[in-house]
Amino acid sequence: MALIVQKYGGTSVADTKRIQNVAERVAKTYDAGNQVVVILSAMSGVTDKLIGMAGSLSDMPDKRELDVLLSTGEQTTAALLAIALKSMNYKAESMLGFQADIQTDCNFGDARIVDIGAHRIKSGLDRGEIIVAAGFQGCDAYGNITTLGRGGSDTSAVAIAAAIEADMCEIYTDVDGIYTADPNVCDKARKINTISCDEMLEMASLGAKVLHKRSVEFALKHKVLVYVRSSFNEEEGTMVVNGENDMERPVVSGITFSKNEARITLKRVPDRPGIAAAVFTPVADADINVDMIIQNTQAGGTTDMTFTVSKDDYKGTLSLEKEIARKIGAEAVLGDENIAKVSIIGVGMKSHSGVASMMFDALAKENINIIMISTSEIRISCVVAEDKAELAVRVLHTAFGLDKTE
Ligand code: ASP
Ligand code: MG
Repeated sequence: MALIVQKYGGTSVADTKRIQNVAERVAKTYDAGNQVVVILSAMSGVTDKLIGMAGSLSDMPDKRELDVLLSTGEQTTAALLAIALKSMNYKAESMLGFQADIQTDCNFGDARIVDIGAHRIKSGLDRGEIIVAAGFQGCDAYGNITTLGRGGSDTSAVAIAAAIEADMCEIYTDVDGIYTADPNVCDKARKINTISCDEMLEMASLGAKVLHKRSVEFALKHKVLVYVRSSFNEEEGTMVVNGENDMERPVVSGITFSKNEARITLKRVPDRPGIAAAVFTPVADADINVDMIIQNTQAGGTTDMTFTVSKDDYKGTLSLEKEIARKIGAEAVLGDENIAKVSIIGVGMKSHSGVASMMFDALAKENINIIMISTSEIRISCVVAEDKAELAVRVLHTAFGLDKTE
């Protein structure tokens, strides 16, 4: 007997027929002698629709009320699945975030889980129930409903798996697993059988959309075994494991891209101590995340500074920097929204040299200009023109030997 958490994404519960299919899958796992906790997303499209409705009443919907609204998407699917299971004569119980004791901070719309009191889930399991928990939602210390950020039900699942010490957290989605690149962009992409948490974390941070980044952080921290697979077939999926042993270890395991990037350059900034702080502190104070930073030292006591932020933060950052530029005496502020970040990821990089030059070479051969570069131990990212992103992914996929052969 194992304790298994299964999370089903929006397309897997898109209508009542699919919810019935999920009920049958869950029942099968239960009948095999396992204890099962199910975490659900809202039906696909529902969260967007709810956001749209709020938007039609207010340009800036109140964040607390927005969370009350958005949590109904998952409330609906959790209730429907429990209804389906009960009508099949299974003991089941739906739980909303507060009932499952998912305690979060007060950051509406992007709350973080601070603790999970697994008591109620565990006693339900002890009574032989299948627990059906609404994903994406929690409850703050004042009893307010919170949500965990878009895509957050993955995080609910892994966090609950950690709290109840589940043997495995299965993430059911509409793709067969994690691919070496987005199959919609690169038709030679292959499914990865096993990937390390570290690589998965980079991939989730750098544009791969299959798993919510914070769910991987939870898996890493609490050593949860995560298995990503399709709810539409019986294909083997991708196992996300802690540690690097016994794995296929190509130098590069995957290629990702993100178009949610924008670049800002301050021209001819006076080159003296304290300038970087002057440029970036107001940005940090505005809760804007800066990603890559480049500073060139130049003659004449001035330097150019270039950095990237997400596209959503572009306009805000640009106007902040224009003000800063005036104060510190920089010559001009330029920006570019039409960029993308293409990244190669692999733990194998730690023990290989020449990976970066191979990447630059492959891009050069296709005449793709590199605008910025950044690296970590297991990743290299290049900023390129937005309209070259897909081509760059395909070129790198081939260059690093990831193309499927058949
Ligand atoms: N329903 C939420 C969203 O669409 C959470 C999730 O599906 O993971 O973002
Ligand atoms: Mg998702």
